[in-house]
Amino acid sequence: MDKPMLHHLNVTFETCVKCEYAGGFHIVLVQMPPTKEVRQPAGVVLKCPNCGQTYEVGWVIDLRLR
Ligand SMILES: [Zn+2]
Repeated sequence: MDKPMLHHLNVTFETCVKCEYAGGFHIVLVQMPPTKEVRQPAGVVLKCPNCGQTYEVGWVIDLRLR
């Protein structure tokens, strides 16, 4: 995987900066290692389905089951 580009989502973001693919992104969940007391959330990285460039957008999600 290429190094993620940082991207601040303050506008609509659906076109890859690297290859200009305009069909939106896949998401990749990156699990952070748990600490003793706290289960860590997963980071969300956007990945271009055309060229594979990834974008770090600063999102995290909780993967606990309901
Ligand atoms: Zn791309």
